[in-house]
Amino acid sequence: MSLDVINQLLLNMLIIITPVLLYQLFWGDRCHQIGAKINRRIIVILGSLIAVLCMVYPFRFSDGFLYDLRMVPLAACILYAGIVPSLWVAAVMICYRLFLGGSFTALSLSLVLTGILMVLLWRSKPYIVTGSRSRNVTAAAITGLLIGLLPAVSSCITFWWIGEPITMRIVGYFGLYSLITAFTLGMVVYVVEQIKLNSRQRNQSQQADKMNVLSDLAASFAHEIRNPLTVARGFVQIMKQPGIQDDKKALYTNMVLEEIDKAQSIVTDYLSFAKPHLEAIELVDAKQLIQQALSSIEPYAKLCRVDVETQLDDKLIISANRDKFVQCMIHLCKNGIEAMPSGGKLQIIGTVQNRSVCIDIIDHGVGMTPDEIRRLGTPFYSTRDKGTGLGMMVTYRVIQTIHGKIDVTSEVGKGTCFSLLIPTLHATSYH
Ligand code: ADP
Ligand code: MG
Repeated sequence: MSLDVINQLLLNMLIIITPVLLYQLFWGDRCHQIGAKINRRIIVILGSLIAVLCMVYPFRFSDGFLYDLRMVPLAACILYAGIVPSLWVAAVMICYRLFLGGSFTALSLSLVLTGILMVLLWRSKPYIVTGSRSRNVTAAAITGLLIGLLPAVSSCITFWWIGEPITMRIVGYFGLYSLITAFTLGMVVYVVEQIKLNSRQRNQSQQADKMNVLSDLAASFAHEIRNPLTVARGFVQIMKQPGIQDDKKALYTNMVLEEIDKAQSIVTDYLSFAKPHLEAIELVDAKQLIQQALSSIEPYAKLCRVDVETQLDDKLIISANRDKFVQCMIHLCKNGIEAMPSGGKLQIIGTVQNRSVCIDIIDHGVGMTPDEIRRLGTPFYSTRDKGTGLGMMVTYRVIQTIHGKIDVTSEVGKGTCFSLLIPTLHATSYH
């Protein structure tokens, strides 16, 4: 094989394979999103482009012999995109062929051949794209061989008809052309099948990851909810025994209630985490909601000898769900209070900065190590006896759904600052 033929072969393969790869790279995984119509248009444009480029850069075996791989993109269209895009590509191909001109016989031969090959490909489609990858590639290569042989045979018939000798050289070229077509179509099918396989495997592993996360969460959720239930059941069983004094009974009842409350709060938090997007989002003034959260946490703060100090700008307008935002503020303030076992000061500062509402919750408590900060928000991560380890998980989730972010700065023994940055809305748009 001369160097020229190798060059032409490589160029043609590049012309064919590059758009196939580009299509898979940009649209392959997104064809459901972009819609069937646009997807078909993209395929028609790429298919026509490849076909025309193949005709612009044909194989020149020797004087008078011009063969190209235009049938390969058409074949790929028939195999993977269906009949309508293929007819469009065929139409573009025929138009360009007419533009190139030539004798009437050559033009009609090209037209008839294109038609026959399309029918041949349409018939062989079920054998090429429905089996295993190796079977598909083999079937595509055999079809490619037939696609290559058909023009060769028709050319031989033409030679015989006009009385030209059919030399071994010519037969050799035709054979080579058929092999090249077979190889190229086989390669296109191999590339497409391999990309499809990769994407299938990726989806499967993503699905498996999701299931693993779900089963981990379900298992830990079940475990966490069983603890308070077991404790409550134990106390109820003790209370059933005869001769229990009234003061003990009152103590046990309180403990049962506490455990049931804990189970309930786990369920509430879990639900907030699981379905935050179903909550109604509205324009709210974060200042009012922070005050609402503080009023419900005030008795707890007093009990823990914590002074709460607020410094809130007016009109901290954000778009959020009222209840969920209050729940987040309670979680953050409660964490701050619990971080100061011997009392102290909890500061809440709310300001508008650029286009964001910034809320800082600052405590001067035990603080956290960088590793502990990293674990914040992990389901059931808690260092407290009575903790559920869901508060931060819910808080992160809720703030994330309103497009906010949480920054944590903390130093062991000095305290912690949780900074919420939530996109604001102009006060004028708030009624
Ligand atoms: P819980 O409060 O039920 O333990 P959270 O998700 O609210 O669960 O908090 C998880 C853990 O993060 C806490 O147990 C605690 O160790 C740590 N933490 C959260 N907030 C603070 C804080 N302000 N200061 C120190 N540690 C904190
Ligand atoms: Mg908490």
